[in-house]
Amino acid sequence: MKKTVRDIDVKGRRCLVRCDFNVPQKDGNITDDKRIVSALPTIDYLREHGAKIILMSHLGRPKGEPKMEYTLKPVADRLSELLGTEVKFQSCPTVVCDTIRAMADSLQDGEIMLLENVRFRKEETENGAEFAKELASLGDIFVQEAFGTAHRAHASTAGVADYLPAVSGFLIEKEVKFLGSAVEDPQRPFIAIMGGAKVGDKIPVIENLLQKVDTLIIGGGMAYTFFKAMGLEIGTSILDEENIGLAGELLAKAEKAGVKMLLPVDVVCAERFENDAPSKVVSRENIPADMMGLDIGPATVELYREALQEAKTVVWNGPMGVFEMPSFEKGTKAVAEILAGSDAVTVIGGGDSAAATEQFGLADKMTHISTGGGASLEFLEGKVLPGIAVIEDK
Ligand code: ADP
Ligand code: MG
Repeated sequence: MKKTVRDIDVKGRRCLVRCDFNVPQKDGNITDDKRIVSALPTIDYLREHGAKIILMSHLGRPKGEPKMEYTLKPVADRLSELLGTEVKFQSCPTVVCDTIRAMADSLQDGEIMLLENVRFRKEETENGAEFAKELASLGDIFVQEAFGTAHRAHASTAGVADYLPAVSGFLIEKEVKFLGSAVEDPQRPFIAIMGGAKVGDKIPVIENLLQKVDTLIIGGGMAYTFFKAMGLEIGTSILDEENIGLAGELLAKAEKAGVKMLLPVDVVCAERFENDAPSKVVSRENIPADMMGLDIGPATVELYREALQEAKTVVWNGPMGVFEMPSFEKGTKAVAEILAGSDAVTVIGGGDSAAATEQFGLADKMTHISTGGGASLEFLEGKVLPGIAVIEDK
C-alpha cells in the first residue's frame, strides 16, 4: 500500500502537488475542466488540514520553451472560481525564480499557488536533477496526483521525490487501488475484454493479462488479425499484418495457460468505412472479400454476455467496434451495458473505452474508469510506473 496525504501531518507544511491540468483549450478558453475538477478533493483536503499548497502541472507541448500559448494562467483562474478562493499565479519563464520562491515562502496555512507550466523547462521531460532540485526546494512534501503522466519519469513526476518524501493524492490512490488490485489480486473469475484498432499496441497487455485472467475476450479491430492467424478470410477489415504471427502465438499461449479465449463468432461488416455504408451481419467464416468488419455481431454479444455473467472482476480496454459511428456502436454499447448491470468489480482503462462509456451515459455505473490512457495500459502490462514507484509505502 502506498502512503497518501491522510498518512502524514500536512499542517503548516508546504505540499508540492503534481496535478494533471493538461486540459483542452480553444482560443485561450478551457473547453473541458474535468481534470481540474477531479483534483479538487485532494486540494480541499490539504486546505482543510492547513497545508500550504503549491500546485504544478504541464500543459500541451511547449517543448522546453516558455511559449505563452501554453501558460497555466487560465487554469489558475478556473481553479480560483471552482475553489472560491484565490489561487496565486505568476507566470515565470523558468518556472522557479526568486519571485516564485518568495511567493511560496509567504504562503499562509490553507493558501494555494500554481506554478507555471513545468514543460517551459526542457529539463522537465529529461528528468534533469537541477530542475527537480529547484522544484523540490519550494516544498516539504511531494504529493503525486497526476496519473496521466505517472508512466513518465520527469522532473516533476519522479525526480522531485529524490529530495522530498512522497505521498499520493486521492486520484492516484483510487487508480492504484482499482487497477492494482484488479490485476494483482482479483476476485475470480477474472475476465479481461480487449478491443480497439490494432493488436500491435496491445500485445504486451494481452501477454501480461494471459498470466492473470480466467477468460480473455477479444473484440474490435484487433479480432481480424487473430482471424487471419486462424486462417480465416477477413475481406478488407483492418489487419495488423506484422503481428499475425504473434496473434497465433498468443492463441497457443492461452491454450497452454488454460485461459479461455473468446473471439467474435459473427461480425457486422460494411462496404466502406462510413456510417451509411451498406452493411450486414455474417458469421466469421463468411466475411465477403469486398467488405470490412466494423462491429461484433449479435451472436457474439450473447456469447460474451454469458461469459461475463460469472465474472467477479472485469477489466475492459478497447471498444468492440467503430463506436464513433452509430451504425457500428451496438457491440460496444452492449458490452458497456452488461458491465454497467454487473455486480463484478468493473475497471475501464483506455481513452476510447472510457469515452465510449461516457457516450452511452454509463460511466457512473462502473467501479472505476482510469483517467490515464497510456498510464493505465502500462499498469495492465504489469510495468512499474516511475511516478507511482517513488511514492512511499505504508
Ligand atoms: P482505447 O483508447 O480504449 O485503448 P484503442 O485506441 O485501442 O482503444 O482503439 C479505439 C479505436 O478502435 C476506435 O477509434 C475504434 O473506432 C477503433 N475500432 C474498433 N473496432 C474497429 C474495427 N473493427 N475496425 C476499425 N477500427 C476499429
Ligand atoms: Mg485510444
